[in-house]
Amino acid sequence: MANRILVAGGGHGGIAAAALLARRGYSVTVYEKHAREAMGYDWTDIFDGRAFAAVGMEYPQKGTFRPKPDMTFYSPSLTVPVRQRTTADTRDIQMERKEIYNRLISYAQQAGVTFVYRTQVLEPVIFGNRVVGIRTEQGIEYADLVIDAAGIDSPLRSRLPASLGIQNHVDESEQLYVYRGFYEKAADITEDKFKFLLLHQNIPGLCWVAAEKDYTDVLIGRFHAFDMDEVESTLQVLRQSEKCLGTKLLRGGCFARIPVRQPLGVLVADGYAAIGDSAFMTMPVIGSGIANSLRAAAILARAVTADKSGAFSAQTLWNYQRGFYKEIGNKTAPLACVTQMLAKCTGSELDYIFESGILHTDDMAISVGLHDMDSILGILKPDGVKRKLKGLAGNRALRSKLLQTGVRISEAAAVTAAMPKAYDDRKVTSWVKKYDACFKR
Ligand SMILES: Cc1cc2nc3c(=O)[nH]c(=O)nc-3n(C[C@H](O)[C@H](O)[C@H](O)COP(=O)(O)OP(=O)(O)OC[C@H]3O[C@@H](n4cnc5c(N)ncnc54)[C@H](O)[C@@H]3O)c2cc1C
Repeated sequence: MANRILVAGGGHGGIAAAALLARRGYSVTVYEKHAREAMGYDWTDIFDGRAFAAVGMEYPQKGTFRPKPDMTFYSPSLTVPVRQRTTADTRDIQMERKEIYNRLISYAQQAGVTFVYRTQVLEPVIFGNRVVGIRTEQGIEYADLVIDAAGIDSPLRSRLPASLGIQNHVDESEQLYVYRGFYEKAADITEDKFKFLLLHQNIPGLCWVAAEKDYTDVLIGRFHAFDMDEVESTLQVLRQSEKCLGTKLLRGGCFARIPVRQPLGVLVADGYAAIGDSAFMTMPVIGSGIANSLRAAAILARAVTADKSGAFSAQTLWNYQRGFYKEIGNKTAPLACVTQMLAKCTGSELDYIFESGILHTDDMAISVGLHDMDSILGILKPDGVKRKLKGLAGNRALRSKLLQTGVRISEAAAVTAAMPKAYDDRKVTSWVKKYDACFKR
């Protein structure tokens, strides 16, 4: 009989892994709390379109996506724009979230995955130290492997026993609280159609305002929870400078949260693997949650199929952990230090970074987009280094903050690289302590 695999939550990575595993003969069922038509937010996302290929899917058809738009970044003073132009070889595309789900779900269904909608997963079922199933509103379901794709608030990850060594909770400062809505377009604009307003009104977080063809896309992001009163007052302030932003909400208009922290230290336990937002696979600062989840799905499917014994133990699933960190986590984890630094920057420090040329439009002429460590380090091109050093020379406090961040990035990179090669309780516990400590200061 085929091994039974349950996917808790219809996250992107979970559905993609389900499809790959069903194609290889496993019996896979996805439990999703929403109805099918309610899945996916009513807005668009930007991600590397080639991630579909990683899970064996075709590149999306023309007409279902558009290239990532040019973006302009501003510090709170709104004085100096830093522009990032999309070039012919930019790999990022903008696509409706519902369309991404349409593609993933039909791919999984064709592969033989069963979907159970409108069913809330409540907690993991544990026997000894092994995850042996899930408890849903409808009862207990046993499985040989449970894949946790239930997002940032996963009821599985957050209820795993401490003995499994998997971090349960996300700190307040490790998530960005966001409100996003598509509003009526009040005016056509020709320049800087997609604006990122960092530390807008000097509030830790960011806003974006993007004038699209038929609407204006607004995101308000904060490092604290906020309510509709704060949304309305922020929209009022934004309307004073952003003439394209109208008053009538057309689509979206809801709150959500994005993990902005390092990936989960330990992704696996006996009978359990976490993927997507449940394992914090977003790239801090940049996003990339969708592409990273799809790529992780391919790595997970490889590790599962390589386990011919069907044990799906922490030992055999460790190949997933190692593969994820080798391909993705080794870049995303160090970048978490940059997010922490940015979250602690004051408005005047950020203004200085923009106004002194430490960050400049020339730095953003990176064809691949800011989507990996190499491209981030592209900012340190020799011709720009002189300008940055000159800028930093004028601000000692900022210079020391940036130097400290540089040291922390290298520490995080070194610890990540030193991950145990094979799963061993004692070694993994000691490694994850060091890993988590890199992000604690
Ligand atoms: C405003 C906003 C903008 C974003 N923009 C981008 C972008 O442009 N590009 C990008 O790559 N990423 C973006 N992201 C991040 C992206 O949404 C995630 O990183 C990505 O979707 C991976 O998360 P996930 O699919 O694992 O989790 P989720 O999207 O949270 O999906 C989890 C699924 O599990 C289901 N679920 C949750 N709990 C239960 C339960 N108890 N029982 C059953 N089912 C459950 C949920 O209904 C949902 O279907 C954005 C996020 C937000 C909030």
